[in-house]
Amino acid sequence: MRIADLHCDALSKLDRDPKLDWAESSGGELDVTAEGLAGGNVGLQAFAIWVPAGTPKTPESALRQAAIFHDKILSAPGMRLVQSGADVEAVLGPGASERGALLTLEGADALRGERWALRLLHRLGLRMLGLTWNEANWACDGIMEPRGAGLTKEGRSLVAECEALGILIDVSHLSEKGFWDTAELARRPLIASHANARSLCPHPRNLTDDQIRALVAAGGLMGITFVPFFLQALRPAGIDDVLRHVEHVCALGGANHIAFGSDFDGIDTYTVGLAGPADYPALADALLSRYPEPLVRGWLSGHARRFLTDHLK
Ligand SMILES: [Zn+2]
Repeated sequence: MRIADLHCDALSKLDRDPKLDWAESSGGELDVTAEGLAGGNVGLQAFAIWVPAGTPKTPESALRQAAIFHDKILSAPGMRLVQSGADVEAVLGPGASERGALLTLEGADALRGERWALRLLHRLGLRMLGLTWNEANWACDGIMEPRGAGLTKEGRSLVAECEALGILIDVSHLSEKGFWDTAELARRPLIASHANARSLCPHPRNLTDDQIRALVAAGGLMGITFVPFFLQALRPAGIDDVLRHVEHVCALGGANHIAFGSDFDGIDTYTVGLAGPADYPALADALLSRYPEPLVRGWLSGHARRFLTDHLK
């Protein structure tokens, strides 16, 4: 089955260690590799620009990762830049043979409010943006910022400019107030690219039932993530825990809004059985043992395909 994955952090790893070879390495430092995507039959992989602490939060840092995306990821044979609904169909539609790479930005810090940088990244393929990572920045507070404030005035205008450009808004990592401010302001449905259900695992990065219901009611998309401590607080997480979160979102009415966002390369501990994209077939088998095939197809790529073809210009 063809797979869509809404979040990984391979770009910041490649930025940190220029010796890593995305096209060739497998089983090494990178979780997401060309070989791994082929092994997992991943048709669409989102690649996040994420500027870590210790690296200057500047447009240059974000643009350097965009350059890595073009120079390394897109230069691999059979990789296609996903910018439009037609691109999504080419990588997830019937008979698709190419693999798609979608450029996203995790945290607007590095833009420093510079709209030219946003427009330039859009020209380089940026099609999804998370306003902040865990901390506060000029646009919004993150979920780990004790102040818990929502969108700033600048953040509001960033959401509006993203929507005008055709950049989807990702609400993962936002403070609760930031989530609700964004939900109220946004004219397009939102994505939570990598988050789970807080009522099953009480990590603040997970979404409350009210947030999940709101995301679903507005036609949004929720990428269930494989971060082990977002799945299970008490013991090592396994594929069964992924299924518990899927089941819970279904119980909240979200069966047709579920996708996956692994967070591979953004984690250093793993869910047992899910160490890289090549393990997606094992997840598919586990889902198929419990749910009807059309639903499983939807979760693995159909819902992401529908959402992205509907909402990418
Ligand atoms: Zn993240």
